Amino acid sequence: MIPFNKPYLTGKEMHYMYQAVYSGKISGNGVYTQKCQKFFEQRYGIKKALLTTSCTDALEMCALLIDLKPGDEVIVPSYTFVSTALAFARQGAKIVFADSRPDHPGIDEDSLEKYITSRTKAIVPVHYAGVACDMDKIMSLANKHALIVIEDAAQAIEAHYNGKPLGSIGHMSAFSFHETKNIISGEGGLLAINDDRFIDRSEIIWEKGTNRAEFFRGEVNKYEWIDTGSSFLPSDMTAAFLWAQLENIEDIQAKRRAIWNTYHSQLQSWATYNNIKQPKIPSYADNNAHMYYLCFENLSQRQHVIEQLKDLGIHTVSHYLSLYSSKYCQSENYDIDHILPMSDRYMDCLLRLPMFYELGEKEQRKIIEALKKIKLWPVSSKGRDKRYHKMIT
Ligand SMILES: *Cc1c(COP(=O)(O)O)cnc(C)c1O
Repeated sequence: MIPFNKPYLTGKEMHYMYQAVYSGKISGNGVYTQKCQKFFEQRYGIKKALLTTSCTDALEMCALLIDLKPGDEVIVPSYTFVSTALAFARQGAKIVFADSRPDHPGIDEDSLEKYITSRTKAIVPVHYAGVACDMDKIMSLANKHALIVIEDAAQAIEAHYNGKPLGSIGHMSAFSFHETKNIISGEGGLLAINDDRFIDRSEIIWEKGTNRAEFFRGEVNKYEWIDTGSSFLPSDMTAAFLWAQLENIEDIQAKRRAIWNTYHSQLQSWATYNNIKQPKIPSYADNNAHMYYLCFENLSQRQHVIEQLKDLGIHTVSHYLSLYSSKYCQSENYDIDHILPMSDRYMDCLLRLPMFYELGEKEQRKIIEALKKIKLWPVSSKGRDKRYHKMIT
């Protein structure tokens, strides 16, 4: 079976973890944690970077830092991972779900203004598949309405918007090093802070509501409970693992881009002929090769392809269930009276192909040839789904 994902090890992970263990300091904020944080601050021009145990945790820190009050609203795309919304819902915010773009699963920037009310506190754009949202549009809207922008950059490592690293543009950002991402530490994440207002408090929230970080720098002579927070920092063993990955970031990215480009060029004429949409990279974005996806005509066609490929030993997967129609949102009486047709379309039609460092040339050729041989039309002739097809450009 060709798996959908296979975590890649550079070979140095165990060595650095061993060093972390034998250094005698394996709790959080150790040598490797600081090396990793500095790496991101320098490479991406982030003002303050803090490793967290997950991207979800980094988003939860953001929710604490923006001081949500009950009734405050946060705008989130519906087509995203649960954590993008959960982190803010957990702090009592009302989640307002926005639709995706017709040409891309990312949030539809032009639709955002209609969701803004006097209670809106923040917008959380997700750079889906590592492809930048139109950050100029989002930041200027946020400035106009005095909103905070938190980039969900979970998939966006090494990606840029008009040359600026993603994660360095919003007031705050959250990255993920979950084993399904480009750069991994098993579980792991990073909070990036670009707005001075949030820096001092972020360290306190990170360290269980205490001023322990200040204490260790010798800035105060005892540390104590001064604010809310939790234990958001990972152990230095996790950071040591991550460091082995970061040292090889160029190699990892080059390999993934080559795989992505092979899919893209070799599937192009087949996709055009069959009206299957390939990923689109806008001119302001670049490609970090996080994911290779295709967008089929309808749900039954996509499911047919998954089944056919599975029979040939190729594991492909769909992606998000549209959050606004989730069980949780229904049980919370989110009174959503509109439908989000693009979010529903990507839920039904999007398929992700195997994409990992060790995907060999032969395996990739097998996937591409298998796709091209599948009979698509008897399935798609059941008709395009009217809910979303009239809107596709
Ligand atoms: C992976 C992912 C997350 C969650 O990351 P964790 O590190 O597993 O918490 C959140 N948002 C998006 C868009 C993701 O892809």
